Amino acid sequence: MLRRRDAVIQKGNRLDEPHCFGECSRAMSQPAIFLDRDGTLMEEVNYCKDPALVRLLPGARDALRRLKDAGFVLVIVTNQSGIARGIITNADFDAVQARLLELLGGDLIAGTYMCPDGPAGESGRRKPSPAMVLEAVRDLGLDPARSWFVGDKAADVQCGLAAGTRAVLVRTGHGAGADATGAHFVAKDIASAAEFILTHSGAS
Ligand SMILES: [Mg+2]
Repeated sequence: MLRRRDAVIQKGNRLDEPHCFGECSRAMSQPAIFLDRDGTLMEEVNYCKDPALVRLLPGARDALRRLKDAGFVLVIVTNQSGIARGIITNADFDAVQARLLELLGGDLIAGTYMCPDGPAGESGRRKPSPAMVLEAVRDLGLDPARSWFVGDKAADVQCGLAAGTRAVLVRTGHGAGADATGAHFVAKDIASAAEFILTHSGAS
């Protein structure tokens, strides 16, 4: 039986190749914004499998545009345990992700890193592991020390900190009751997070 990780690699990613879905570009040591997806960029729909249910959170597109224009590489880092749980398929994920990218505008996101593992059992990649961020750092030539992780769960904050980025917790999605321990800022939403980041860090 294939391990979960192998199921992802079967999507065209061999172990010795970047685990990047979508458009990846290489450059040296650029600052990045690592973005959780569900509850951070789009409305939380538990185990979303229907592209018709994808709704951008208010201000998300403009916030990402401002961050990209400021020189940040934008990378989505998402846990999708619904795949391990048998609730959604890889094809469902791809369809939802394609709709999200369509709504955001095709050129904003440099890469998407997805972990299909569930919370039970071994996972080397599931957040709060920094593994997916470190894959992106390697694949895209990013500088964690000048980067930020933005997400709506404590696992997002912990993932970013473990990878050497700064972290912002947003109060959208599951963020209302999330533990913000370690976060450099708690924002009401992605727009507020972007405002804080742009004020508190140059991308250069
Ligand atoms: Mg989330």
